[in-house]
Amino acid sequence: MRFSLLILSSMMLILATGCIGKTSGSLSDSNEEKGAYGPSQPSYKMEVLYDSTRHEISGNMHVHFTNNVGHTLNEVYFNIWPKADDFQSGNIDVTNVKYNGKEAVSDVNQTHLKVSGFSLPTKERAEVEMEFTVKVPEQQDSFGWDGTSVSLGNWFPILAVYDHNGWNVYPYLDGAESFYSLTGNYDVTITTDEKEVVAATGEQKGDVKKKNGMATYRFIAENVRDFAIQMNADYRVATEIVDDIKMNVYYTADQEKEGYKEYMLDSGSQALQTFNKKIGRYAWNELDIVGMECDFDGMEYPQLVMICLNEELDESDIKDTVSHEIGHQWFYSAVGNNQYKDPWLDESFASFMEVLGTRGLKDFVDKDFQAPVSPYQLDSPSSAFIKRGNSGKEDYIEYIYNYGLKTLNDLRIKLGDAVFYDGMQQYYQEMKYKITTAADFISIMEDTAGEDLTDFFEDHYIKIDD
Ligand SMILES: [Zn+2]
Repeated sequence: MRFSLLILSSMMLILATGCIGKTSGSLSDSNEEKGAYGPSQPSYKMEVLYDSTRHEISGNMHVHFTNNVGHTLNEVYFNIWPKADDFQSGNIDVTNVKYNGKEAVSDVNQTHLKVSGFSLPTKERAEVEMEFTVKVPEQQDSFGWDGTSVSLGNWFPILAVYDHNGWNVYPYLDGAESFYSLTGNYDVTITTDEKEVVAATGEQKGDVKKKNGMATYRFIAENVRDFAIQMNADYRVATEIVDDIKMNVYYTADQEKEGYKEYMLDSGSQALQTFNKKIGRYAWNELDIVGMECDFDGMEYPQLVMICLNEELDESDIKDTVSHEIGHQWFYSAVGNNQYKDPWLDESFASFMEVLGTRGLKDFVDKDFQAPVSPYQLDSPSSAFIKRGNSGKEDYIEYIYNYGLKTLNDLRIKLGDAVFYDGMQQYYQEMKYKITTAADFISIMEDTAGEDLTDFFEDHYIKIDD
């Protein structure tokens, strides 16, 4: 996400349990599985219908996954983020939950769903299936509908991550993000009004099937950690091939009139080329850039970025947002992280990519960016900021976005461009499709640089104790 404008109203604070279900010592029992992130190799198959009159998306989902956590699993957790939008009339109902074809026990608590009543031995694969109905709230957000625009981000039940802390089921945070998921494969069939123009994670497979005013699309995505959809009956599409990547820009006639289509095409193409060259090739073959009339700047999903366009933003604001959200395709989407615990590992990096992809860092002046003051560190969790209300939200942006960008730029200056970008390329290659930590980043940069960087990172408010 990117914020240049602070939206400090409608704060929603839910501070609940973070990690649950840890079996003490379980992971250390097996060296082979030590530090495993699971359940592994998730594979989602969904068939859904979007009702554009009721603003509901409903259907069924089958998820296969492997128990790689080093001990028997008696439960799995899913995050059901539409629950967080209860206050905006968004919601999700989950029914008919089954484990390997048999009825399972399911419990909903805040924004998570626990599925239990089974025993999955280590290294075995299982299937959970369910039906669901999602009520999409009326709001111009990454999850919501407004006029002809329908945004489906974080809309379906998605497997939570089990790691050395147990199951990670964090509360939804307004002003930060708590999304944390592993990469997997998706096969999603969506039927909706034939007038809708549909953009989604992955690539469209086969022909659109039209019948009785409805159209059915199938999207296949590989090695992605989420699946987003954006629809608008008024969309037009401009496609460019950039370094063999199919880049689609979705815009309305009004957005084109304001010049936004060209801004998105220009900055999208420039960002992709720059990041491919400096960091490593984009991890998929297609990218959708979708224009929306919103005021949160932008939001990243795998292979799909939402860009806010409105009259308060000028050309450089919009280009910065495009660059930032595309930067997240490298850091968040390809190289994943626990966004609740380590928000700097995607946001500081995307802020760095934002500048790299637009004006470049050579003459970039970051002297005004403030260093964190107690109780914050650069590597503080999102909750440390958000629980302090509006001032915490401001601090979050100042430190996680701005000071984090300064930190990476300081590292570039310290190591020199050649060593720094060599390290960034190593880091991207090594952690692509995985979950990273501060310790991973630091050790790869130290190996590349051939020097101990403890002092540098401590001076930049990052503790090395992961
Ligand atoms: Zn961001």
